[in-house]
Amino acid sequence: MSWALARPEKPAADLRSALIEPGIGEAIYDLACRIYPICRSITGPGVRETLGALGLHLPLEVREVPTGTAAFDWTIPPEWAIRGAYVRNVTGEKVVDFADNNLHVVGYSRPVRTVLPLAELKRHIHTLPEQPDLIPYRTAYYSEQWGFCMTHRQLEALSDGLYEVVVDTSLDSGSLSYGEYLHQGETDEEFLFSAHICHPSLANDNCSGLALLAVLAERLSRLRTRYSYRFLFAPGTIGAIAWLAANEAGVERIRHGLVVSCLGDGGGPTYKKSRRGNTAIDHVMTHVLRHAANEPKILDFFPYGYDERQYCSPGFNLPVGLLQRSQFGTFPEYHTSADDLNFIRPEHLGDSYRMIAAAIEVVERDWLPLNVAPKCEPQLGRRGLYEAVGGGSDGPVRSMAFLWILNLADGAHSLLDIAERADLPFAVMADAAALLRERGLLVRNGNGDAHKTVGQEPATASAEPFAALANRGPAAGDWRVD
Ligand code: ZN
Repeated sequence: MSWALARPEKPAADLRSALIEPGIGEAIYDLACRIYPICRSITGPGVRETLGALGLHLPLEVREVPTGTAAFDWTIPPEWAIRGAYVRNVTGEKVVDFADNNLHVVGYSRPVRTVLPLAELKRHIHTLPEQPDLIPYRTAYYSEQWGFCMTHRQLEALSDGLYEVVVDTSLDSGSLSYGEYLHQGETDEEFLFSAHICHPSLANDNCSGLALLAVLAERLSRLRTRYSYRFLFAPGTIGAIAWLAANEAGVERIRHGLVVSCLGDGGGPTYKKSRRGNTAIDHVMTHVLRHAANEPKILDFFPYGYDERQYCSPGFNLPVGLLQRSQFGTFPEYHTSADDLNFIRPEHLGDSYRMIAAAIEVVERDWLPLNVAPKCEPQLGRRGLYEAVGGGSDGPVRSMAFLWILNLADGAHSLLDIAERADLPFAVMADAAALLRERGLLVRNGNGDAHKTVGQEPATASAEPFAALANRGPAAGDWRVD
């Protein structure tokens, strides 16, 4: 494999500044606002329109999977389109109208034109009695149903009598659409990012995830990276299943993966581990979240949630976790009309983005350092490293990082391992290690298997003088053997 020889065009430390620009949270929020009004479902024009909006930020490939195509145990359903829907009382007043809110119609409602008494109409109406001012979000993808969602107050205001019901939808042979973008890195090993694109007018779940990934992809596309980064914008469940069915042969390239949703609210952060529970991404995200927040939630895998269910199904068992702020289902706005553009904030979107950028920095910059002067402490002053520590406020942290790295750089501990032991952010360690290497105190462990590390710095020096140390190889029981 040639990747250990590859050298990024820019110094790796520049990755951080290239990815994280001022105003990044606002940029994500603006894009979320652009796609929020579109009525999406698992198929149909709303998904394509959303992919079109995201495609203004990155060269997105839009794929169409025809109705009836088999995907493992599933079949691509008929394509759903909606032109309008309402319920009108005897005076001609519309008591509920899809034109007012996309959530008013149950997703995948079959077409209907009829007149019904209130008692019968009520069987097709969904409300939230506990949250009487909110409209619930409901779907009926795989059943022949129709229905309306409204506030409980709206329902209570309906008087007895007949109602005219019009659901102007179609369910025809068509296709399921998803969008995909691959940023090619120095290697074919991939970091997969996946977000569901099927929810109508819900901001946190999941305009936040779609917008964040599009902005991230746009920035990554200008950089040279070691990993390749794949971005997938697919309808929940059936989209991920269709993608896996079409790409089964290539999934072994996926070294790390994150499903993202609900990235714009003020809660969390929450990370749900991959099914394996000890993969590199699990360690990376645990580290990143612990340094990004006071009380992050780190959850073991469970088989419900978003598309990590498909990536982590036993036949794939991929190293894919789920990143959220508040966990789905735990906040009162979840799957209601209150999950709107006021519920997500640019500062929270920016925070989520910075966590993901930090994770990318770990996988791009982690390597196995070897101390070339391991007998007693090396003399730092002679190498200008006391000056480097300097009198700045980060001086003590820097010098602590030097001490930890020099002590644990035995060729068996990665920088992430050392950052964990020292309880310091990875970025501090990576910058300190870069300086130590520049001053000739560290080399890359030439013996370690690059593919067992999270990432690997390009080789610039031989580990020959300390071959005995290097021969120890990766630490026994190391999580990276996954
Ligand atoms: Zn949802």
